[in-house]
Amino acid sequence: MNVAIVGAGIGGLTAGLCLAKSGHRVSIFEKASRFSDLGAGIQCGANAMHVLNYLGLVEPLEALAVKPASVDFKDYQSGQVLHSMDLDEAYHRRYGAPYLHIHRADLHSILRREFSRVMPNGLHLGAAVESFAETASDVRVSLSDQQQLQTECLIVADGIHSLLRKQIAGDVAPRFTGNVAWRGVVPVERLPTDWMRTVTSNFVGPKKHMVLYYLRDKKLANFVGVVENQRWRDDSWVAKAPWEELDADFADWHPCVRSIINAVDKDQCYRWALYDHKPLSTWSSRRVTLLGDAAHATLPFMASGAAMAIEDARVLQRALDETDSVSDGLNLYQVSRIERTKRIQKDSARAGSLYHFESRFMRKAAFTALKLAGESRQQFLPNYNANAVRLG
Ligand SMILES: Cc1cc2nc3c(=O)[nH]c(=O)nc-3n(C[C@H](O)[C@H](O)[C@H](O)COP(=O)(O)OP(=O)(O)OC[C@H]3O[C@@H](n4cnc5c(N)ncnc54)[C@H](O)[C@@H]3O)c2cc1C
Repeated sequence: MNVAIVGAGIGGLTAGLCLAKSGHRVSIFEKASRFSDLGAGIQCGANAMHVLNYLGLVEPLEALAVKPASVDFKDYQSGQVLHSMDLDEAYHRRYGAPYLHIHRADLHSILRREFSRVMPNGLHLGAAVESFAETASDVRVSLSDQQQLQTECLIVADGIHSLLRKQIAGDVAPRFTGNVAWRGVVPVERLPTDWMRTVTSNFVGPKKHMVLYYLRDKKLANFVGVVENQRWRDDSWVAKAPWEELDADFADWHPCVRSIINAVDKDQCYRWALYDHKPLSTWSSRRVTLLGDAAHATLPFMASGAAMAIEDARVLQRALDETDSVSDGLNLYQVSRIERTKRIQKDSARAGSLYHFESRFMRKAAFTALKLAGESRQQFLPNYNANAVRLG
């Protein structure tokens, strides 16, 4: 079948690769005319890695990634570990795949290279899609340069501010969550030699948290500092803000946080307002469906935006493979994905309040409760294999 995909983000490219593997002829239309190295780290748990393994991409990814030993939640001043979860060999054995930290630009370029290899001429840059019209037998897609094209199935993977989503799900405006995230990447040689073990550190404090981890074979260190802030509404990945404000936001924080803030280039501090949207009740029509952030944009507090898009791609492929009817396939995909993504959207929003308690006592109590809640809650994310999960 001819399939068109709107958006060459992580979701669109992974969907393109999965669908190409089933023998479909895939064209991806991307409004950007080139890709930048922007963005920071992406955490890929076993759930995402199963799909990337299916696509044969583990080796190139591992060459550029970092495997953390654990994720440690720490008090923002003392550094006392409040809760820790293994992400090492035991995690790999338990869930059948590793946990990787990878630079978004590296993941994106590996996906892009592979897509260009399997579908030469399939990626169209500088091609903004404006709308579509669907009939029982095809979909007509209109691009901003007046071009029209016809396809049998359209996958809308155009991100949180999706232009096309309203044609399927009505007007679902992204909502500002009251949080902003500082982002920055620093060469490790600028940091003290004993700066941090190879873990993900999540320092939690009143109305703020700061996530630190290594990237690119430990040559870089990455920070994402989330602050409750009602004033900043810009969610462009290229929006910068003054270093002095970052410095003030984390003024009395642990030395590990202070050293990365002191080491970052002062003109390279990005600040990004965090939006999500309410879980959708429908995201497929007869021949068109949503995928990735367009379907379920979420707060990044469970580091699952990219992983959900990757899972979507594989489940969509399998659902379309299971039936001769596009409409049945898209419906099977939606039914298979909607509950899991809804839960991750809701849990991610809740995670913010867990991290941001004002009182130290409440923060400690919340993490103790999380520890006692035990494995089941923590297994929910990695314990999902899109290659094998029962559809429907
Ligand atoms: C530049 C950038 C940096 C990011 N960095 C991080 C990060 O550091 N950490 C993290 O956890 N998450 C990051 N994210 C978010 C994360 O990548 C997403 O949650 C996840 O990958 C979902 O991807 P997606 O493919 O659904 O959407 P997106 O990654 O948003 O991709 C959507 C794509 O669609 C294109 N597009 C939009 N409208 C149209 C149109 N009308 N026609 C054609 N193309 C269109 C966009 O240009 C974009 O390439 C980043 C996203 C972006 C865009």
